[in-house]
Amino acid sequence: MAYNFDTLKIRAGYNPLEHNNAVSVPIYQTVAYEMGSTARADALFAFELEDPLYTRVSNPTVQVLEKRVAALHGVDYAVAVASGMAAISYTVLALAAKGGRILTSPRLYGGAVDGFHSILEELGVNYDMIANPDDPYEFERNIKEDTKAIYIETISNPLATVLDFDAIAEIAHKHGIPLIVDNTAATPYLFNPFEHGADIVVYSATKALCGHGNVIAGIVLEKGGFNYDPAKFPILDRKLWFLRDRNENPRSILDIFPTSPVTGKIRAVHLNYLGAALSPFDAYLILLGIETLSERVAKQTSSAVKIVKYLETNKHVNWISYPYAAGSKYKALADKYLPKGAGGIFSFEFNGTEEQKRKFIESVNIFGYQANIGDARSLIVNPAQTTHGELTHEQRDVTGLSINTIRLSIGLEDPQDLIDDLDQAFEKAFT
Ligand SMILES: *Cc1c(COP(=O)(O)O)cnc(C)c1O
Repeated sequence: MAYNFDTLKIRAGYNPLEHNNAVSVPIYQTVAYEMGSTARADALFAFELEDPLYTRVSNPTVQVLEKRVAALHGVDYAVAVASGMAAISYTVLALAAKGGRILTSPRLYGGAVDGFHSILEELGVNYDMIANPDDPYEFERNIKEDTKAIYIETISNPLATVLDFDAIAEIAHKHGIPLIVDNTAATPYLFNPFEHGADIVVYSATKALCGHGNVIAGIVLEKGGFNYDPAKFPILDRKLWFLRDRNENPRSILDIFPTSPVTGKIRAVHLNYLGAALSPFDAYLILLGIETLSERVAKQTSSAVKIVKYLETNKHVNWISYPYAAGSKYKALADKYLPKGAGGIFSFEFNGTEEQKRKFIESVNIFGYQANIGDARSLIVNPAQTTHGELTHEQRDVTGLSINTIRLSIGLEDPQDLIDDLDQAFEKAFT
C-alpha cells in the first residue's frame, strides 16, 4: 500500500520486527559488522549484498534515514553523508571530475558558489555560472561539449527566488545531461524535485530536514534510470580493480550500478575513499526531526507570510524578496511549483545606514544572529557580510544581494512575538 507523505515521514524504511521490536530506531554505534562466513564475505566484497560491512560506507541507523528520505521523494536510491557540502561536492565530483563542467545559477548557497571556485576547480571540475537563471534558455545557450550537469537550488538562499524547473529539466535532458537540485530550503514537504524533472536531489539535512540546529548532515537522492552515455561520462565507465567481480574482472560504476551510478559511486568510492560518513547518532537525530517536518515547515511558512505582511508596512524596508511578497515576479512560479507555500526563509533590504543596520541586528531579542537556516528558532543575518561573504562584489551584484540585505529564517515561535521583536528593533535602530 502506498502511504501519504505524513505517514511515510514517521514510518518509512523501518520495521521494528527487524530490530528487536524497538519502536524508536536504534542507534547502531558500531564500526564493523560480523561477516559470518567466508562465502558471505565474498558476496559482500563483490557488491552482491547491501548489508553493512563498515560504518564509513553504511550503517543500519543511517540506512533507515536513507530509506525514509528516499520514500518521501518516491525514489529508491539515497546516500547520506556528513554534511550538505559533502553531498554537493561528491555529487559534482561523481559526474564532472577530471575535466567536466557544471552549469549553474548564481543564486546558490554561498558555500556552494565558493566551493566550485576554491576547491572543485582544483579537482578538475569547471563551472559556468549564467547571469540570468530566470530565463531557462540562458542555460541552454551555455551548455558546452563538456558540460556534465545543470545544478540549481529550489528556493534560493537568501533571496527566495524560484526557477522554472520543468523548462530547465527539459533543456538538460535534451542535451543528455542530468539536472541536480539542491532542495534544502524547500524540503520534500514543499517540493519534490523528482516530480519536475530532477535526476539528482541534494540536501543539507542540517537545515529544515533535521530542523533543530543540532546536526551537520547531507543526503544525495537519485531518481534512477538516467541514461548515462559512457562516452560522455567516462569517469563512470572506468574499470576499477576494487570493483572486480568474483572472476577478477575489473568493473566500472556503470557496470555495478547501471540505474543509480551517482549514489552508487558516492557510496562505493567517495564515502569509501574521501570518507565524509554520517554518524549513526546524527542519523537518529535527523529521523526524529523528520517526524515533525510537515508541521514545522507549514508553521514556518504561515508565520513567514505574516511577517512579510508586517514588513510591507514598515517604512524602513526598501523591498522584500519572497514569492508571496506584494509584486514579486516569482509568484506565478511559486503558485505552480510550491502549492503549499514558499517556506520560512526570505530577505528584505534594510533602509538605513550601516550603523543603523548593525544596531537593528543587535537589538532583536528573539531572533538569533547565526549562520544557519531552517532551525526551530528564528534567525537573522546580514548575508553579504557573513553567510555570503565569500562572494566577490561582482558575484554579489549578479546574485541581487545588496550590502543592506537582511535574511530571516522563521522558526516556531509565536509569529506576533516575532513581529513585535522586529518592530522594537527597528525603533531602537532609528532613535
Ligand atoms: C547550508 C546549506 C548547504 C551546506 O550544508 P552543510 O550541511 O552546512 O554542509 C548547502 N546548500 C544549502 C542550500 C544550504 O543552505
